[in-house]
Amino acid sequence: MAHSKNYILARVNPVDLEDLGRKLGVVDLKHGQVLAETRQRVPHVYFPHGGILSSVVELKDGWTIETGMIGKEGVFGAAQALDNKVSLSKVMVQVPGQASVVDAEHLKTVTLSSPELLALLLRYERFFLAQVQQTTACNALHTIEQRMCKWLVRMHDLAGDELPLTQEFLAQMMGVMRSSVSGVAKQLQKEGLISYRRGHVRIVDIELVKRRSCECYQAVRELYDDQFGEGASQQPGSGHSPRPSY
Ligand SMILES: [Zn+2]
Repeated sequence: MAHSKNYILARVNPVDLEDLGRKLGVVDLKHGQVLAETRQRVPHVYFPHGGILSSVVELKDGWTIETGMIGKEGVFGAAQALDNKVSLSKVMVQVPGQASVVDAEHLKTVTLSSPELLALLLRYERFFLAQVQQTTACNALHTIEQRMCKWLVRMHDLAGDELPLTQEFLAQMMGVMRSSVSGVAKQLQKEGLISYRRGHVRIVDIELVKRRSCECYQAVRELYDDQFGEGASQQPGSGHSPRPSY
């Protein structure tokens, strides 16, 4: 079933999934598509099957920086749907892919009648906040090479070896000059970690990229597993779900 490609939907019990399913569709998300602007209401909730969504902060001087990534292990818009609130950041499609999508009002109705579904969605929100905190530390303290490698490894987990990315976009996501990204990408290519051609990055040796990444990649995986059980960051529906602590 297509919906179970998303790790969160794979954990929803059959009764709730049937309730959601009446209004659950599948959409193609295109590169650069904006799913929400900052302080804008979020009419739909997205559960990616593949591809990557980025939560970004835009500053007045034109700089942007990514503060969180959402892929097949997560959901965008659920927390906002529950209390009719707006998005706290701009959310856009970084790597195209498919997603299950549901009307925010419908998700709210089903969730408010299911403590189990509510607990599941809140567990993901806790992980997302933890991911944003880790990203804040990473952006402030780790080198561009470490950050780029972390970013590539995380993208590899969520979207595979072939990443349709321009250096300009990568620089934008990392909040650095394009020339900085270009220098690091050149070095990684020279050492055989990645291959790069216009608008496209291929990860050649993921183990080497992991070694060059900062601790934040592993930290984010562990934060996910803390919420959903050991190994959950790698497999839909795997891991033992810890009891909610609220
Ligand atoms: Zn880091």
